[in-house]
Amino acid sequence: MTGPARDDAPRTVVLRGGRVVDPRTGRDEVTDVRIEDGRIASVGTERGDADAHVIECGGALVVPGLVDLHAHLREPGFEHKETIETGTRAAALGGYTAVAAMANTQPVADHAAIVHEIRDLAVAAGLCEVFPVGAITKGLAGESLAEMGEMVDAGVRVFSDDGNAVPTARLLRNALTYAKAFPVEVVIADHAEDPSLVEGGQMHEGLASASLGLTGRPAEAEEIAVARDLAVTRMTGGRLHLCHLSSARAVDLVRRAKSDGVPVTAEVTPHHLVFTDDDLRTYDTNLKMNPPVRSAEDRDALRAGLADGTIDAVATDHAPHAVEEKEAEFDRSPPGTIGLETALAVVLTELVGPGVLDLLTAVERLSATPARILGATDHGGPIEPGRPAHLAVIDPGAAWTVEPPFASRGRNSAFLGRRLRGRVVHTFLSGRSTVSDGKATA
Ligand SMILES: [Zn+2]
Repeated sequence: MTGPARDDAPRTVVLRGGRVVDPRTGRDEVTDVRIEDGRIASVGTERGDADAHVIECGGALVVPGLVDLHAHLREPGFEHKETIETGTRAAALGGYTAVAAMANTQPVADHAAIVHEIRDLAVAAGLCEVFPVGAITKGLAGESLAEMGEMVDAGVRVFSDDGNAVPTARLLRNALTYAKAFPVEVVIADHAEDPSLVEGGQMHEGLASASLGLTGRPAEAEEIAVARDLAVTRMTGGRLHLCHLSSARAVDLVRRAKSDGVPVTAEVTPHHLVFTDDDLRTYDTNLKMNPPVRSAEDRDALRAGLADGTIDAVATDHAPHAVEEKEAEFDRSPPGTIGLETALAVVLTELVGPGVLDLLTAVERLSATPARILGATDHGGPIEPGRPAHLAVIDPGAAWTVEPPFASRGRNSAFLGRRLRGRVVHTFLSGRSTVSDGKATA
């Protein structure tokens, strides 16, 4: 006797009449997408048939599932902040089908067994594919390289000690040189801030920090680290990725390095694209970030860099914390904001709405390019027959206010109370609905 299939959803789904926006093919047109057995079966006008489940998508966008290069899912070790299940539910609700999980768990993701454990937990939750990021150094201690080889064998393609910069140029050189030796592309992702300049720093160093009496983290800390990282990358030819850029000078350095052919990519977070140090005058701990939000000039340079392709991807740096942790005084509160449930709407509202980014470019920075960097080859489109049906359907006009409840265990959103436009209506992971009518299905 055979039991019921785990998934009793119809095998054929037709997304009818949505605006398909797919940066990989350049397609931006109203049409139908047919999903069969977890894959895209056709793109084009559908007659529809009796056994197909038809979802009317008129007025909605149909895009490749979003891909996040930078999320802290906290499990194992910090389940009071987030679990893989709650984090991937938040991701699915945000339109994501693939998320890179940062290595600062307990134990640290610095060997293959933990990579398998994280991936297995994600498969069991069934909400979003998780790509574990491996630690560059053992225990994130910044001393000796982690078991990168066995982690690459386990499928890891991105390594990062995020939270800490790789402490010395020599260690970064060793990591990039080692990464380059693998037959697959392996990326070293650095949190580029010179630690000697940011120790004890609470916010961007500038007029606001002086008037608030808070210790600053100067933009030069990022500039110095980015310059070092780019020089070492040029020297080794290894693949560098720069996490969460925050300053105008760093954007300039990356722009120049790219024009010189240095193999570097970079990301920016939604909060660095929106907030400035002036917003911290309320001592809102949800705006305390690492690296900090900076001046309006820095924010504008990040926007320009994202638009011209100097910055390749929008990444959330989703960083959930327990309520009592964030309610501590400003100097004792941990940095970070949750972001998976709001990133898309922030980009649509703050960048696409005012014309900083066109829609195709926005989807590219949220999906196609991060998929390429992450080695998530099944994700990020193209929306073409035969491809896995990792898709999101978005109502671009839906207005909503950021407020609890969140699917994330974290409540620490920098965007609390903000009015945004754009809401994920459906998310499909391998053709299976993870979000339906704006609600998680599991
Ligand atoms: Zn970081």
